Amino acid sequence: MKLLLLIGVVLLMAWIWRFSRRARMGDGVNRKPPLAPQTDMVRCLHCAVHLPAAEAQHGRLGPYCSTEHRQLAEP
Ligand SMILES: [Zn+2]
Repeated sequence: MKLLLLIGVVLLMAWIWRFSRRARMGDGVNRKPPLAPQTDMVRCLHCAVHLPAAEAQHGRLGPYCSTEHRQLAEP
């Protein structure tokens, strides 16, 4: 009878240890927000705003944030 009680206590302690460990680890799930995919950033030559290269207007001298700024910088 004493042995059964000892086994029960050990099992209970193991369960508590696992439960607290899982709570600390966050269920093994990565809870960090996913990183945004890396994009190349360029700087507008007129107003110096940074924007993704794919969205930039490319002039003779370099990238611009908008057609308006490209026309203002490169008449
Ligand atoms: Zn600009």
